[in-house]
Amino acid sequence: MKKLFTPIEVGKLKLKNRVVMTAMDLSYTAEGHVTDRVTAFYEERARGGAGLIIVGGCKIDEYSGAQQMMDISDDRFIPGLQRLTGGLHRYNSYVAAQLFHAGKYAHSSEIGRQPIAPSAIASKFTREEPREMTKEDIKRTVENFARAAERAKRAGFDAVEILGNAGYLISEFLSPVTNKRTDEYGGSPEARMKFGIEVTEAVRSALGKDLAVLIRLAGNDFMPGGNTNKESRVFAAELEKHGIDAFNITGGWHETRVPQVPMELPRGGFAYLAKGVKSVVSKPVIACNRINDPLLADKVIRQGSADMVGFARALLADPDMPNKTREGRLDEITLCIGCNQGCLDNSLRHRAVECMVNPRVGREHEVAYKVPATHPKKVMVVGGGPSGLFASKTAALAGHRVTLFEKDEKLGGQLFLAGAVEGRREFRPFMERLARQAEMAGVIIHKNKRVDEGVVKREKPDVVILATGGEPVKLNIPGADRGSVVHAWDVLADKTDLGREVVIIGAGATGVDTALHIAQMGTIDAFTLQFLFDNKAEEVETLWELSNKGTKKVTVIEMQDKVGSGIGLSTRGMKLGMLSRYGVEVKTKITAKEITPEGVVVVEDGKTKLMKCDSVVIAAGVRPAEGPHEKIKQHVSKVVVVGDAKKPQNGYQAIRDGFMAAREI
Ligand code: SF4
Repeated sequence: MKKLFTPIEVGKLKLKNRVVMTAMDLSYTAEGHVTDRVTAFYEERARGGAGLIIVGGCKIDEYSGAQQMMDISDDRFIPGLQRLTGGLHRYNSYVAAQLFHAGKYAHSSEIGRQPIAPSAIASKFTREEPREMTKEDIKRTVENFARAAERAKRAGFDAVEILGNAGYLISEFLSPVTNKRTDEYGGSPEARMKFGIEVTEAVRSALGKDLAVLIRLAGNDFMPGGNTNKESRVFAAELEKHGIDAFNITGGWHETRVPQVPMELPRGGFAYLAKGVKSVVSKPVIACNRINDPLLADKVIRQGSADMVGFARALLADPDMPNKTREGRLDEITLCIGCNQGCLDNSLRHRAVECMVNPRVGREHEVAYKVPATHPKKVMVVGGGPSGLFASKTAALAGHRVTLFEKDEKLGGQLFLAGAVEGRREFRPFMERLARQAEMAGVIIHKNKRVDEGVVKREKPDVVILATGGEPVKLNIPGADRGSVVHAWDVLADKTDLGREVVIIGAGATGVDTALHIAQMGTIDAFTLQFLFDNKAEEVETLWELSNKGTKKVTVIEMQDKVGSGIGLSTRGMKLGMLSRYGVEVKTKITAKEITPEGVVVVEDGKTKLMKCDSVVIAAGVRPAEGPHEKIKQHVSKVVVVGDAKKPQNGYQAIRDGFMAAREI
């Protein structure tokens, strides 16, 4: 690790390292005030070694954002903010407040008034039309930014970050898509920059020279007709002249069709945006988005794409990541996998942010990670899926003697299967790392070992955690046992071959993932694509075809009228878009009645018809797996059932279940 842990100056601040925790809405506040939950959350990240922590977004006025966000629009919020900054300073971390104004991305139901924006153009994000800002609105908003900055100074912050990206107010002024003004704030690129520059100057003058001023910018809006990496460079270069000390460069707007943070985005995939800005400014630049691994972060800095790296979800997943990295304990780090299941999916529903791979997130104030067991017990965990593995690691860390039994060769259960899909590959290394961490904590793992009554009688555990997972729901229609019929899990596990035309019955999360997996068969991989592209071997159109059109014709049918139920809010739209891109046909409100040698007999709109195909894949859901649970219970005083063995749930819930069960041993 050559660069990530070297000091760097941002304005007058001398950061101990280049790890920046970037702001993210946590929804842990009550009416904008800092709570114990907020302070405990951030203090854990400061203790973990981050050099700079940017908290917020903090609303600067009554138009700015949702109720549960942190607020810096009034002096009454200062005591709480002082408590927060004081706590973080104890760990030698600098702390910045992000000054937040959502513009037309604010919901009227949240702010209690019509949102304001440069022009009265409806937001695709909220579906609401904002009010065009008057000159008076503009003047007042600039002043509110300055007053918020001045409050940040009084509250003990070392820096502020102006929010200028993602489709929020300042980026709305910058973009020709959302700024149609005919006065001096609209029209030419220079005029569209005017509002952002006025905010920067007002904030700088409110703070003087001692505090640093950062700005978060979109490296590319990724909006049709919007600003690209070229315009973001022009804007950054101009802002540098007006007092910006560092540039925090992220991806595009919330409403862009280009995925911004899911695991489908390759690790470090947007570092090139920071590199573009870095080529035109002399102040430090922070690279962001899916840089989840400190080794990659170090490489981004060493190669010259950025000076610092921003981590948000990576520090949700593991607040101790900086310290563990510095101490060479890389295997102990839990990496963010970009699943969005606990963080963004909650945030989009205005729920408190949590994390799939770290069940303590948001509960740092009430749940310790490692509580030494007062009476260490002998614990048997049955099942090596996410719930069982997490339960075993947690129990072992508490000092219990833990043995885990898995009936298959592979650990990871359904997450291992989900990791078969191109773009969902993070699941597999996560499960492998979790298994390694469990072993490092002292768990003895037996694979290919089924547990029955006899094993339990021999082992004589004090506690059994049954994490035996789920099993596919069987389809009870004629022909369901034909040779042409397979289950989705067997397809994902690569245990079966399929004919050219495939019908999938069931369009929940597994059905959609399986459809994508099959549709991707026969497409070229990323390396081949790059080879052909670099050598200009094929036309761009042909390359697109080669990477999006496979060898199978896939149709998914679903009884309900909704496709992808069970997929999180932040990724469902993207996946439906992928289905369409890969040419998968999706049919809803259609019921399978029989499977014949020719295909699937279905009823659609009251009419019976045959859908011809070569193979049928069943993805009709999951139910708790049957097993010798009752017999085991006769021999052990405490038996806890967790994960899908209790009831079908997603990976986030399964891990949380395992964690809580192990804590209660
Ligand atoms: Fe990362 Fe998933 Fe945790 Fe969010 S929920 S921080 S994406 S691992």
